[in-house]
Amino acid sequence: MVRYYCPYCNPKNQFQKQSSKGTLICGFCGEDLVKKPFIRLNQIVALVAASSLLLPLIYTFIFLIKNQINPPKKSYQAKSTLIIIIRETIS
Ligand SMILES: [Zn+2]
Repeated sequence: MVRYYCPYCNPKNQFQKQSSKGTLICGFCGEDLVKKPFIRLNQIVALVAASSLLLPLIYTFIFLIKNQINPPKKSYQAKSTLIIIIRETIS
């Protein structure tokens, strides 16, 4: 379904009228109505901007919760090997 709107009048009180040519015109000013796109470009830009802020935050929360439930063993191993390397270099 394609919706039409008048770009010049208040969107709250608009009504469509059919002109003598058969095209849809605005009831107030008589201008040709413009097709309303399903998704506007600024909506896409806003979505990308919002997701770029929110997705890292959500990802961090998921990562933190995952680490709380089962802490990774690799980091401990890495720490212990680092200590071993330091000990070997000192002695
Ligand atoms: Zn109008």
